[in-house]
This record gives sequence, C-alpha cells and structure tokens, in this order.
Amino acid sequence: MKRRQFLKLSAASCAALASVQLGKEGGFFKPATALASSGSGLPGSLGAKEVPSVCDMCFWRCPIVAKVKDGRLVKIEGNPKSPLNGTKVCARGNAGIQLLYDPDRMKYPMKRVGGRGEGKWARISWDEALDEVAHNLKKVRDKYGPHALAFFDHGATSEFHRAIFKALGTENYSNEPAFFQCVGPVAVAYMSTMGYLVSGTRQYIDMANAKAMLLVASHIGENLHVSHTKEYAEGLAKGAKLVVVDPRFSAPANKADIWLPIRPGTDTALLLAWINYVIQHDLYDKEFVHKNCNGFEQVKKAVKGYSMEWAARICDLNVRDMEAAIRIIAENRPNVSIHPGRHSTWYGRGDTQRHRALAILTALFGAVGVPGGLYFPTPVHLAHTDCLEIEGEEVEGPEESLKDNYPFADPFPGTPTGEIVKATLTGKPYPIKLWGVCGVNIMQTIPNPYQTMEAVKKLDFIFSIEMLPTETAIWSDIVLPEAVYLERYDGVYAYDGINSYVTVRQPVVAPMFEAKPPFWIANELAKRVGLKGFSCKKEEDFINAELKGLGLSIEKLMQQGGIVSLKEKPYRDTSKPVKFPTESGKIELALEEFADEDFDAVPKFEPTPAPPKGFARLLYGRVPVHTFSRTMNNLWLNHEWPENHIWLNDKVAAKLGIKDGEEVVMENQHGYRSMPIKVKVTPGIRPDCVYVPHGFGSRSKHLSKTFGKGASDQFMITEYEADPFMGASSHRTSFVRLVKGDKVLDIPELVALPRELPRYQVKKAS
Ligand code: SF4
Repeated sequence: MKRRQFLKLSAASCAALASVQLGKEGGFFKPATALASSGSGLPGSLGAKEVPSVCDMCFWRCPIVAKVKDGRLVKIEGNPKSPLNGTKVCARGNAGIQLLYDPDRMKYPMKRVGGRGEGKWARISWDEALDEVAHNLKKVRDKYGPHALAFFDHGATSEFHRAIFKALGTENYSNEPAFFQCVGPVAVAYMSTMGYLVSGTRQYIDMANAKAMLLVASHIGENLHVSHTKEYAEGLAKGAKLVVVDPRFSAPANKADIWLPIRPGTDTALLLAWINYVIQHDLYDKEFVHKNCNGFEQVKKAVKGYSMEWAARICDLNVRDMEAAIRIIAENRPNVSIHPGRHSTWYGRGDTQRHRALAILTALFGAVGVPGGLYFPTPVHLAHTDCLEIEGEEVEGPEESLKDNYPFADPFPGTPTGEIVKATLTGKPYPIKLWGVCGVNIMQTIPNPYQTMEAVKKLDFIFSIEMLPTETAIWSDIVLPEAVYLERYDGVYAYDGINSYVTVRQPVVAPMFEAKPPFWIANELAKRVGLKGFSCKKEEDFINAELKGLGLSIEKLMQQGGIVSLKEKPYRDTSKPVKFPTESGKIELALEEFADEDFDAVPKFEPTPAPPKGFARLLYGRVPVHTFSRTMNNLWLNHEWPENHIWLNDKVAAKLGIKDGEEVVMENQHGYRSMPIKVKVTPGIRPDCVYVPHGFGSRSKHLSKTFGKGASDQFMITEYEADPFMGASSHRTSFVRLVKGDKVLDIPELVALPRELPRYQVKKAS
C-alpha cells in the first residue's frame, strides 16, 4: 500500500473512531435512584438539552456538549465551539456515558471487612466513613508526625483532597502517575534547557505546520488525544516527512518515510551521533544558535566521539538510513517537529539526558517559536484565588527528606512515588503509616505492584477515593465514592496551545447513588480533622473567582457556548533574539546547573543493561480506545478492545514453535508469571523485545467486564530504577520469557550484542 493511500485510510478510521456506534450493546444501565436536579442553578445545567462541559475520559480535556433528556445523559459530542476538536470526540469521549451508568460503580461508602486485597466490603454511611478516615489521619499524624501521611494523587479532583494533606503538613504527596511514572524526565530536560514545560498536559509542538517530524517512540494514534492526533494527521496530509525511531512497527512507524527499528535502550546513542553529524556537516541553524543559545562549543566538543558508525553498531541500525533520516529533518529546518515525547520514564538512568539530547537537536535546528516547531504557550490571566487552599499549621520539614537524593525534584510537585513506597516498607528515614489515594490505580501504575502490596500491608490505614472498584479499592480500608466528571464541577480549563481558549467542567446530571463531588468530600473531611475547610462555599465561587481575571464568569462563558477564545502569540519574530525563561534568557545547550550536581552538562550515552540470556525486554504502550486501566471496564470500550496481545517477532515465534493467537504466560527475570495472554506473531517487532499494551489484566473481581482479561505488563515489572534527577521510576527494565503449557521457552538471541553494552545480571526482586 502506498503511504498516501494509507493516510487517507487513516483519516477515515479516525473519523470512524469518533463515531463508534453507541448503544449497540443494548441500552443503558438503569440507576437505582432517580436523578435529581444538581441545584447548580446554572443556565444550561440540568434539564437543559445541551450542556457544555469537558471530557475526562483521558487528561486531554476536550470540550464536549452533553445531551440530556429527562434527566438522563443520552449522548456526548464535541463542543462545536471548540477550535480544536469541534464536534469530534474519540471513542473514549463518546463512551463517557458508560462510565456514568456503569453498574460496577462505587455507589456507597464502603468499609473493608475481609483482608486487604480480598475485596470484601460492608456498606456504611458517609458520616461513619468520613469520621473513620479523619480519626486515622489525626491518629497517625499525632503518633508519628505529619510526614507519616502520604497521598497518591492524579487527575482533576485530586487537588481538592491534596489540600488536606498539605494543610496537615506532610511533604509526601505524589503526583503519580502523571509525573513520577510519565513526564518527569521530559519535564526536567526541557525546563532546564529552554525554561518552559513543553510537555505537560499539553504538548506545544506544531505538527500541523511541520515540514518534517521526528518521533522517538512517541506512539501518536495509539495514544490518542483528539487535537494532537488531528494536528499530526494534518501535518502528514500536507506533506510532512516522518521519521520514526521505535523498536516496534507502531502506528506512526507504518506511516513513516523512514522507520529506524532501534535496539531498545540506545536512543541517546543515536541522538548524540545525530547532533555530532549535524554540527560536523553544518546542518544546523547558525543564526538561531548564535542569537539564542549558550554552550554550543561545549556541545560540539562533547559529542565529537559519537560517530554514525559507532551508533549504528550500538543501535543495531544502518548508517545509510540514519544519515537519510537526519538529513530529512535538517533539510526542512526550522519548520520541524522534534517531538519531545511524553511518557519518558523508561530506564531510570539516562532518561532525562535522552530528552536533553532531543531538546538540543531541536535548538540546533532553530525549531522553536516557528511554524512546525515547538511554540510558545499562551499566557492565561486567570485571577489568583486562595479559595481551594486549606489553612494549616506551620510544620517543620523532616530532618531527612525523601526528595533529598533528587536535586531536580523541585519545583515539580510532590515526593517520588518509589521513595514513599520504600519508606513505608522500611520505616526509614521515617515511618509512613497512612496512605490516601485519589484518581490513580496504584497497583496498575507504580512498578513492582508486589512491593506496593507489601507496603500497604505495613500501613496502619489506607483509604481511597474511587469511582470504580479497582485493585487499589480492594486494598483499601475505606472507599469513598466520588462523582464522575459528568456529575461535578472541577475547575477552569485553559487550553494554552495554538487555538487557545478557556472553558469549565460542570455537572451535566446530578451525582448518582451516594457518590459525592470532590469539593464536598474534601470540605467535610477537612472539618472532621479540625481544619477550617475551603474558604469558598461552593464550587462555582472559585471558578468565578478565577474567571474574573479574564473578565468572565460561568454565566458569561455559558452564554458563549461554554468556550471563549484567548489571544495567542505562538511564534517568535525571527529577526530578533528571543528572551527564554531561563536564568540567562537563552537556551542552555550545556547545563552548568547539571554539572554543579555532578551530572553531565552535555548528555553522554549511558547504556542500560541489555536482556539476560533467554529473555526479551518487555515494552508496553497503549491502545487508542483505552486510557490505561481506567477505561477497561467501560461496556463499549471493553467491547471494542477487551484484551491485549503480546507482540512476538515472527522469527522468534518460529524457533519457539508459537503460532499467532496461541495463549502463553509471561515469566519475568525474577520468576513472576503473568495471566495468560494471546500472542500476536509479527515481523513488526525486533527479536530482542516483546510488546504488551498497558492497563489490561485486571485483578479486581468487582470489575465485571474486564476482570481476568488479558495480562498486566505492570505485574511483570518487579525491578525499577529511579531517575537520578527527580526520582521518577523506570518501566522498561524488566525482561520476560514465555511459558507455553508447562514448558518454559527461552527467547533465542537472534541479534548479537555489542561488547560495550552490559547485560542485566539477575538480582533478587526488590
Ligand atoms: S482525547 Fe478522547 S478521551 Fe481524551 S479528552 Fe478528548 S475526547 Fe476525551
């Protein structure tokens, strides 16, 4: 198939994704209680036919319009006023209805009556549940000190609850998985180099106007965020060239002009060789570098030893393809999208420097503040309000902080997840005795869930705020049922990329059963632990207070269809130097602040250990109809993609006698085994790795639609390494072989390992 033909098909399949035939699974679940008015009194709120709000089926926050009939949500579409997604939502956005009406939802506050992890609960009242959580928060704080409290938080509602933990004085709240299992390394790399966060919730990369794009293991289309994917598809449709570096023939790889099937763990070697090549062959933007960058000579000197021939051997690539690939990018400079990536917690060591290398390459091409390159976010002038802060007592920090070993953990929020788990297990440097969890299924996100379970066993108390009975819920002592995004306010959402706008999430129906909005839960809990609670009386107050900065209110916003556009200036004036938000005002190609902390000012290649003999590296990724484990139990999405498959190289499969569709079990280097998983035999993956889509293999029997379907990659990760910069934990440091029937099958080594690459030595699981 020709590439252009494929692109047309791809656009068609994107559209199909957005119009998954809803309702084909036989109607909605009928709630036990009739829906009542939310009492918000907002125009266009309950009872209205169309209610503008914001999707939360993933973190991309597409503006939506919810269609409500007789108090029931019947359809979700994109908000036509949205300059980004328009009327389109993805399959998950459409299927939000099935989260709202999921019969498995946590309906009432629950108290554990069996052992932790057994999933046996008794229904209790909100008063009993809140009193018990508050009693334990106070008890642990008084006995062990405030830092014995830890909070794992993620998503839109966690801010409300985090305020309590902050007010109680702990430093141990962990933005997990968003930071410590995902963007930590890329955030540190680009903040240090360019002074701004190019890859947070948003990604400031102008793919729609790129003449060429470089993706290093970014799986756009497999991780589907509507506007991001649209911009990428638009860029390709307009003729942008595409280079993809990935051990696997991923969705983007099959659209690439050049696909480089790199040996896992060697990406930095390739990037450093490219930097050297670009400098040696005068393929960089001299004017931009001269005007806007510090440290060029240092970089030039530091990368001199990284030849293409050396990198070809390390990366198991072909020099000709490597040169052709970088020339495609260089010839189209500065209008090139060198994607910064998002999920960057791969190997621990070297992750931050890999993204530093990407940032350096971007700067050498002048691909900043230009169409097609990285661009500048729109400043959003929301008014400051302390409405959601909870006043607490001044508390001294612990003598030894869990962040101490990570010099670049600040200014990012929270404490590294791995450090909290370790301190809970060991009691050092101080005991942690209570965990609160909100918006994250910690058993499916923190590597080494077996270690997490051991840590939970050591706690005096654990509670979680949940919408569904996840693995984390079944390990909790108390579970508080939280309203889903269609039943609650969250806050003001500003999209500060190209086509920027401001909008709010508001309830489209009243909370079902006894689920409560986060504002109510946090406020009630705060009062019970002796804090004052929020200074504003209801959610609308803080939203209106913030909107005031833009001369808006919820009412005014709704009069305009729920969205107001903002003025933006994404591109630079190419005739002038730019003032970057770094200390020097320039892009720092060589980083003295890294050198001051004994890191390399210019990235070096630090090999990560290769698989031990008989094993393949475990890689993982996403499928476009699911958001990790969060959506696996959704009736419609589960119907579309109920289980995952393990990708196995066809030559390896032939040697092992494994056929496509056969069932195997993964066994990792520590002897841990997965649930059964079907094999996808393909030439589209290197022989030294296997690939498993993430989020499947639920172990909570209360999740009736997804329990036991597929296998969890997370439960195969029994060893991880912390990123030495900020403490994020690695996810690609596990290795598996396969078990078929009762036979353990070693993975044959079909590609020789260069002597410079160390091999992993099996240690005991941590
Ligand atoms: S990308 Fe899909 S799931 Fe994510 S916010 Fe947009 S519509 Fe919702």
